[in-house]
Amino acid sequence: MRTVNDFIDYFKIELNNREESREIMSFISLLLYKIRGYELADIIVKGEDSLNEDELEFLLKATERLKNGEPIQHITSFVIFFGSHFKSDKRALIPRPETEELLEWIIISNSSGDYNILDIGTGSGCIAISLKKRWPKSKVEAWDVSIEALELAKENSSINNADVNFLEKNLFHHPFPDNMDIIVSNPPYVTISEVCKMRRNVLDYEPGVALFVPDDEPLLFYREIALKACRSLNSQGSLYFEINRKYHIQIKEMLLEMGFINVELRRDLFGNYRMVRAIWPGGDLDIS
Ligand code: GLN
Repeated sequence: MRTVNDFIDYFKIELNNREESREIMSFISLLLYKIRGYELADIIVKGEDSLNEDELEFLLKATERLKNGEPIQHITSFVIFFGSHFKSDKRALIPRPETEELLEWIIISNSSGDYNILDIGTGSGCIAISLKKRWPKSKVEAWDVSIEALELAKENSSINNADVNFLEKNLFHHPFPDNMDIIVSNPPYVTISEVCKMRRNVLDYEPGVALFVPDDEPLLFYREIALKACRSLNSQGSLYFEINRKYHIQIKEMLLEMGFINVELRRDLFGNYRMVRAIWPGGDLDIS
């Protein structure tokens, strides 16, 4: 094996039984981007370029790791999320396209750019960092219970030059800061009974603490976050969640019961209810 084309032929044969051809092409392009900075269009014209020993070694190892089901984002150690580069490894969930859609919703529906923002369960930091980059005047605070995830998030904030206040905090043990305009969370929402339906590369390589919630308490995180959010949000402040489509009705009802208004569900690009937004009307509720 000597050239880019030789590698492509080899890779296609090796991965043939595992993945669809579209997926194979996307892997090839990510691997060549990693070592050579090639864009998809370059690959066609650079097919006869020769690969040096280090590059070949990386590509052969990458092929084996992919065959073992390791996510491509861990092998290249980066992911492009909302137009920015993020480091991605086993310390946190890989940023996903559904979460980009949530972010897009937040950005489109808020325009002043000067907000107090809180991100609960920040993981890789992708939501908090993307919001800070979009609205540099905003103050963004982001919590996680995982020290490893926070280390990754801090690395990502320096890669992206985004000043986010990352804190190691368990949401069940601390009140939220006052005067928030936007609270956002993509908490764990996969129930244990859904585990068998998940792809092996998610289960083997991504942290369970970021994914799972007990079957008998699927709304555990949503309830706690929403209860704390209503004390912390300014009048007309908004709460955004990424959700498990199975519980979209329950989550909407819970938010309405708590006094949130304009509760709106949205579907993701796969057509599943994947996110919700709720507005806090402000003022104290009359509980007499
Ligand atoms: N969407 C993720 C998945 O299906 C789960 C994310 C989460 O639990 N917050 O793997």
